Amino acid sequence: MKISCIGLTKICFLLSLSVCVVFFLFIPLMKHGYLKAQPLLVCNITGSNRYFQSPLEVARLSPRSHNQSDVLQEWKNYSLQEGGLKDSPRVTNPLQIGDIFIAVKTTRKYHKSRLDLLLKTWISKAKEQTFIFTDWEDQELRQKAGMQMVNTNCSAVHTRQALCCKMAVEYDKFVLSSKKWFCHLDDDNYLNLWALLNLLSEFPHNADVYVGRPSLDHPVETLDRVKGDGAASLKFWFATGGAGFCISRGLALKMSPWASMGNFISTAEKIRLPDDCTIGYIIEAMLEVKLQHSNLFHSHLENLPRLPQNSLLQQVTLSYGGPESRRNVVRVAGPFSLEQDPTRFKSVHCLLYPDTSWCPHKKPSS
Ligand code: UDP
Ligand code: MN
Repeated sequence: MKISCIGLTKICFLLSLSVCVVFFLFIPLMKHGYLKAQPLLVCNITGSNRYFQSPLEVARLSPRSHNQSDVLQEWKNYSLQEGGLKDSPRVTNPLQIGDIFIAVKTTRKYHKSRLDLLLKTWISKAKEQTFIFTDWEDQELRQKAGMQMVNTNCSAVHTRQALCCKMAVEYDKFVLSSKKWFCHLDDDNYLNLWALLNLLSEFPHNADVYVGRPSLDHPVETLDRVKGDGAASLKFWFATGGAGFCISRGLALKMSPWASMGNFISTAEKIRLPDDCTIGYIIEAMLEVKLQHSNLFHSHLENLPRLPQNSLLQQVTLSYGGPESRRNVVRVAGPFSLEQDPTRFKSVHCLLYPDTSWCPHKKPSS
């Protein structure tokens, strides 16, 4: 069968017309990113057996093609659905770092030796939602932190009452904010904001969540002097404040009868336990909500050099040993020596945010 020249021209015309139609149909889809591959983000709460590929890691693999705002934008595309993360960009309410209220507890004598390092590192990346709870009107700190510094007027001593007084102010300030999560940290914690967002995004939006690391391998036992007459004993787990912990807003509001407007101090007095134990007591014993045990939070009660280097940047919090255990720091092959960076926080920060002005920059290879 012979195809005439006119017939061939017709077929060519029809073919190019259909290519054009297909092309114009796909333009809007590409604009909305539906055809873009989204990076995989999977994490389980206990941190074991987790596969993690955050937008930050994606950015690090191709540093020239992403800047921080691209990475943040990618992060905002993640959202929470029943049973895990979905990477649909159409969902309108993903968790953002601005949804988290971060409270850092400090005291007068640590403003220089501890807090300055945090201000230079992770707090600089989360200025608006981090509040510093201290016990002294330090003009220098006020200049740096402005309204983010909260003078609790609690006394500057390491007693149960003074520490509970600060926790009570943290709680009340969080309740007045409109944030979805309350996270408490000590001033010797490094907070990895990406890892925190990744972890909290795993929880259903309105669930009652209390997540952190217990410092003991067994629950605390105390006499029930709040609900009962003190004859029966209660067992409960608590997340150690030295490693940091988080509470969802819904759960925090339920704590109000035992925690708001001065009640936190009287609850702590009744059970005669420190601030972090009191939080566990209210949540586990009074509200019957279980602590979600997570090994992504770390205090200097642990053997920090034993943390595997390849999972260091996925941990939510890190810490370092005090003067009596200077060597209890995380092992990181970062850009600073142990002398330059004894806590290792600067090295960790430069691995997470290599574009930071004070991080050593690699010379471009010629
Ligand atoms: N802290 C405080 N008042 C004090 C001593 C300590 O608020 O008089 C705070 C300190 O800033 C830190 C937390 O309590 O955020 C824990 O203090 P530290 O790390 O010295 O003790 P540890 O971790 O051994 O309990
Ligand atoms: Mn500490």
